[in-house]
Amino acid sequence: MQDCIFCKIIKGEIPSTCIYEDEDVFAFRDINPAAPTHVLLVPKRHIDGADTLSDDDPEHAALIVKLIFTAGKLARELGLQDGWRLVTNVGEHGGQTVRHLHIHLLGGAALGDFGAKLEFRK
Ligand code: 5GP
Ligand code: ZN
Repeated sequence: MQDCIFCKIIKGEIPSTCIYEDEDVFAFRDINPAAPTHVLLVPKRHIDGADTLSDDDPEHAALIVKLIFTAGKLARELGLQDGWRLVTNVGEHGGQTVRHLHIHLLGGAALGDFGAKLEFRK
């Protein structure tokens, strides 16, 4: 999508610290980390958010499974053996500031405070 910041990051038009990429998924460090490890996992295909996922699109379910499996692999690779958290914000009240579906992978410390920071910083 033309004016989508994450589509531009995926295409390399905006720089990012990419830590994983395959044909469907792109993962990069959040520019404003809310935890010691804060990675964003996004589908390369533009999807607005979890609220626009649909049974009518046969690729959607597979993409979500792949995003979550990839998060687990990255968590292992990043040494988050003590635990981690996945968050996806949806829409205005959910605190979604970038309208391209993304999953936050947070870890690297006990997350009580960091989760709150993510929820309340907007
Ligand atoms: P949301 O608030 O929509 O759940 O999450 C959007 C996330 O994208 C925020 O945590 C924000 O810090 C991150 N973000 C916004 N713009 C950029 C950017 O240009 N580069 C990177 N790496 N992260 C960004
Ligand atoms: Zn996009």
